Amino acid sequence: MSEKKHYGYLWLAELKKLAKTLKKDHPDLNHSQRLELAAQQFAGVRHYHEAMALHKQYIDSLQERKGSSLVNCKYCDLNYYADLAEDLKWHEERHLKYEKAEKALGYKPEAREEREASKQVAYEGMYLQKENPKKQVEYALKLIRAHFDRSLEAAIDGDYWKSHPPFEAFAAMMDYGPSLIPPEAMQVIRNRYGCIEGPIPRGLSYWFPRNQA
Ligand SMILES: [Zn+2]
Repeated sequence: MSEKKHYGYLWLAELKKLAKTLKKDHPDLNHSQRLELAAQQFAGVRHYHEAMALHKQYIDSLQERKGSSLVNCKYCDLNYYADLAEDLKWHEERHLKYEKAEKALGYKPEAREEREASKQVAYEGMYLQKENPKKQVEYALKLIRAHFDRSLEAAIDGDYWKSHPPFEAFAAMMDYGPSLIPPEAMQVIRNRYGCIEGPIPRGLSYWFPRNQA
């Protein structure tokens, strides 16, 4: 295999789905035999257990130990207890949601820690670049991007990411007072993205579907 593969939960789900569809052409095979065949066709390995090993190895490589059993997933940014069955299930569900969203959007929100760092850089940058409006706009956009990522993360968790606005529309919906973004920079952003009033009230930075707001 030349390209780097991600053996995530979505990958495993697709393999299992293929095993199901093989039933039509191979009615003589039982479920585990069809999984073997799907592993060969889909994953290019000889046995299903080898595909499972690839999957487990891939997922394990993303988990970072934070405490005795507290783990952080570097991909979906969830902190959970690896010794609790319900936490493992919770992680699997969230990770799969993220994989699906990333596949469809071609984008994944930044993890919380990086977002907070971005916000800090943005606030400092806007303050330090008072004489340079162009730079201020760059930092202002960094702040909006961090808010966008947080809102999109909530949308993935809440299963409404398909209707979440893209960054450009989100930027048009956000209304920042002068204490957060200097008015001159805000005007440049308005000129670039427009202004959509209503979906995100001033002071808030999450987009919600209408029926959940
Ligand atoms: Zn994860």
